[in-house]
Amino acid sequence: MSDIETGDLEQAFLSYLRVYFKERNFEEVKQFFSRRFSVFGTGLDEVSFKLDASISLFERDISQVPDPIDYEILSMHIQKPFDNVGIVACVLNLKFYILKEEVRLNGLRYSTVWILNQNRWQMEHKHISLPTVEHGEDEAYPVKEIEERNAVLERLVNEKTEELRSLNIELNKLAVTDKLTSLYNRRVLEETIYMELERSKRYIRPFSIIMLDIDHFKEVNDTFGHLVGDKILLQFANIILENTRNTDVCGRWGGEEFLIICPETELERAMHMANKIRQVVENFIFEIIGHKTASFGVTSYKEHDSIESILERVDKALYRAKKEGRNRVIMSE
Ligand code: GH3
Ligand code: MG
Ligand code: MG
Repeated sequence: MSDIETGDLEQAFLSYLRVYFKERNFEEVKQFFSRRFSVFGTGLDEVSFKLDASISLFERDISQVPDPIDYEILSMHIQKPFDNVGIVACVLNLKFYILKEEVRLNGLRYSTVWILNQNRWQMEHKHISLPTVEHGEDEAYPVKEIEERNAVLERLVNEKTEELRSLNIELNKLAVTDKLTSLYNRRVLEETIYMELERSKRYIRPFSIIMLDIDHFKEVNDTFGHLVGDKILLQFANIILENTRNTDVCGRWGGEEFLIICPETELERAMHMANKIRQVVENFIFEIIGHKTASFGVTSYKEHDSIESILERVDKALYRAKKEGRNRVIMSE
């Protein structure tokens, strides 16, 4: 406060600018105002003839932009019509940041009226405005600045939206896929069977499911370790994807068991598909372990089927395939 105690108006004004723009210290700023302080800001609602309301405007201003504001005084004019009355008029360039984006307000007109009160200058009134001439075309508002600010905000909103969108995609992907194989997870498979059952009941359409289980998979882990086992599971998933249609829904049912849901597919065609996959697997040379086989159960939708009944049938068929010697496809009608 020492500057404003000197009775020097210029010092008082410069001190005010520093506290207000640089320090952004609301409590200190308040010390400069007289009891009758009134203010006109550039904002539509920034009009106040009362100290309390004026102070609220400053409080809002500082809370919205709490960081230091760079200012440059382009010109300054000081007048003292009386010994105890002062007018300081100046033109400023401001630079500050909103949401990390630089905002400039150039040519801000700044008029302040001061009263000397017990050797201390106090601000009676402040009026700020932005020029229109710099922007041309008789703009009533500083359209250029507003447009710049809008562009900045729009870009930030777009960036945030894009960020959220990709996060959402990522989350959705996590919720529906099996981490190891990237096939659909069991939840999606169950939901798909449920939906297919509804569709088949309503429109009397066929659909089939194929369940396959790798033969003697435990040996892979026991002989080559779990990491190799994981690699084989991934290769199995790829074989399944490469030998099914886009409309089929392929997923990991559990451990080394996979399920393929084939909409619009009769039992015979599903059997054919399963056999094709079985042959591809049988002939495939897996990394490190060489040959491996799988067993398959196949079944199709029947009237009055529930999710439990259709799964029970396919499970039984798979069990028979194992029991009858593995590396085969068994259907359950
Ligand atoms: P079967 O021919 O009767 O199916 O014999 P199997 O050895 O394949 O069957 P079993 O159910 O005895 O063993 C399945 C093995 O699959 C045991 C388990 O450790 C392994 N397994 C399950 N999930 C994973 C996995 O995510 N990664 C690896 N590496 N192994 C897995
Ligand atoms: Mg197995
Ligand atoms: Mg198994």
